[in-house]
Amino acid sequence: MSSPAELAELIRSAGSVVALTGAGISVPSGIPDFRTPQTGLWANVDPMEVAHISVWRRDPGRFWGFYGQRFAALEGKQPNGAHHALAALEEAGRLDAVITQNIDLLHERAGSHNLVEVHGSIRTATCPACGSSYPRAAVVAKLERADAPPCDSCGAILKPDVVFFGELLPEEAIDRAFGLAREATLLLVVGSSLEVYPVAGLPLETLGAGGELAIVNRGPTAFDSKASLRIDGSAGEVLPQVVSALRPRRA
Ligand code: NAD
Repeated sequence: MSSPAELAELIRSAGSVVALTGAGISVPSGIPDFRTPQTGLWANVDPMEVAHISVWRRDPGRFWGFYGQRFAALEGKQPNGAHHALAALEEAGRLDAVITQNIDLLHERAGSHNLVEVHGSIRTATCPACGSSYPRAAVVAKLERADAPPCDSCGAILKPDVVFFGELLPEEAIDRAFGLAREATLLLVVGSSLEVYPVAGLPLETLGAGGELAIVNRGPTAFDSKASLRIDGSAGEVLPQVVSALRPRRA
């Protein structure tokens, strides 16, 4: 196991650093991940069951029965120290980009600018029938009046602009993510089990191009044996320590 100071050193000496984040980075903000057993929202629901594109096509009302709760649960959630640390690293010119699997908008709220959301986000929802787009606030307002939000123009049930299981990833975002991973001399994975493909292919891209991998995650990941450095701990505690270690000391 390595220390935050060693990770800071690796970042200091790397040419291009790119972060790849997953659900674990938002756990300290009170948003449960998928794979930690017995946590909140997902404890009694199989996400594959409700967030699969085939379920959506069959019964969008059932999806919203579950997802409406998720929207409510994300309301008011704030970025934690890990999101702020990545924004600070970008601001300091030490991080080129954040690639995230999260849909919760917390990187944006923390101030990350060069952000690739490979699984979409809850920022907008689109009508699958007529293509009308709705901002999140309008969807939340509709959910206060109905279990499933209808389109104002045609009445069809809206789909959030997040990638469901069984759906292809947005081409532009995933192409950008693979390009960044290829160019990174250090890919910093934070809070991801690295079990969901094609995103789990990004570390292979970095390693294949001669770059290194660093992992900050609570618990094991599928790529631990290939990482140059690994810290098993909470991202919310570890990353702020890395930022502190990188700050120039006063004379
Ligand atoms: P995952 O659930 O597979 O893995 C999360 C990892 O983070 C686990 O290994 C867990 O042990 C670890 N972890 C938990 N708390 C942590 C902490 N405080 N600090 C560091 N690590 C911690 O999640 P994934 O790899 O992102 O893939 C699952 C899919 O779930 C993704 O597609 C993502 O879009 C979706 N998802 C997103 C959110 C969100 O937007 N916040 C929440 C749940 C799931």
